[in-house]
Amino acid sequence: MSINIVELPSDTHSPSNITCSNCRACCCRLEVMLITDTGVPKELIEKDQWGGEIMKRLDDGWCAAVDRDTLMCTIYENRPWICREFEMASYECETERKDNEIDPR
Ligand code: SF4
Ligand code: SF4
Repeated sequence: MSINIVELPSDTHSPSNITCSNCRACCCRLEVMLITDTGVPKELIEKDQWGGEIMKRLDDGWCAAVDRDTLMCTIYENRPWICREFEMASYECETERKDNEIDPR
């Protein structure tokens, strides 16, 4: 069996350019609803206008669980279900990156 490797033109926007390490935690600025109990610390939770639980966000717009120096999630093992489902390089991810003007090329 042989495998053909197709080289993409250098200006092609390959999804492989999209990683969290060349982002600025864009998706951690979105509102995150808590729909299951994954053990998020209570001090990081607040209520929305309908009484539902959401991740607290600070004045800079990021989730309160983001480490402001590393931009990493400080509660990764206990992060909400929605955060677990948000896939790197998905359509939603690319949309957030575009909205925040992140382009690794
Ligand atoms: S928007 Fe995408 S690339 Fe950026 S931190 Fe979130 S999952 Fe990672
Ligand atoms: S809980 Fe973690 S992964 Fe989810 S938005 Fe906050 S910092 Fe990001």
